[in-house]
Amino acid sequence: MNALRGHDSRVRAMLADPDCCGELLLAGIALARAVDLGDPAPLGPTFSLRAVAKALYGPVRIFADLALPAGPGWQERRRSGAGGSYDRLLDVLRADIRRYVPTGTSFHQVACGRPRVRTKGLCGRSASPNHTRRLTDPLTGERHWVGACSQAACKTWLAAVIARNKEELVDHPPPVPPANTGGVLERHLPEIDWWPLWRCLDERWTPPPEADPFHQPKLQLVLGDDLPDLRPAARPALTVLRGGWTAAPNA
Ligand SMILES: [Zn+2]
Repeated sequence: MNALRGHDSRVRAMLADPDCCGELLLAGIALARAVDLGDPAPLGPTFSLRAVAKALYGPVRIFADLALPAGPGWQERRRSGAGGSYDRLLDVLRADIRRYVPTGTSFHQVACGRPRVRTKGLCGRSASPNHTRRLTDPLTGERHWVGACSQAACKTWLAAVIARNKEELVDHPPPVPPANTGGVLERHLPEIDWWPLWRCLDERWTPPPEADPFHQPKLQLVLGDDLPDLRPAARPALTVLRGGWTAAPNA
């Protein structure tokens, strides 16, 4: 009875979680059933994902008609053809690997980021697809689109920005940005050891840093009469702002 109650509240929590939806929710419910109620029956401390896939999708279904969830390597798998139930479940779990994914504007909405010469603001025309790049912010490691329109001056500006970014990254190797995607089922099924599975699903995966919940306080207490040195540490001269790269405020 307790197991049933625990299962019920776990599934309710999944249903209430806006990140836990679609096939991920279905996979979560099937896994919760295995963890809470032993269905399919566990094999000692493990249970078979193949059996869960069979319970979820049936034994033979081929998913040629459904888009793949966008986990690491999905383009290559799409080219090789969609697999059966088991592959489908692995794709769903792969899309939920905890990781950093660049956010923000989509490729097609990038505006030209060249600062205007005589007036304030940016050029702002639609960037040309051939002149749109994702550059890495040396301060955070986050990746942002930067683009130029087809005007010669804007293209020259973008080429200079790309070259400068390349140099910055050599001088200041960027940190790995904190994870911002995935790990939804890990939240709801903490009993499962997800990391080995994620390593199997993406051999390049390593545990990403998480956003630090600790915020640096702004005030310092001074003991005695000597003020501490509050000058900020050296930092790269460039930082990413929406639409383009600019000098960092303290540069
Ligand atoms: Zn422009």
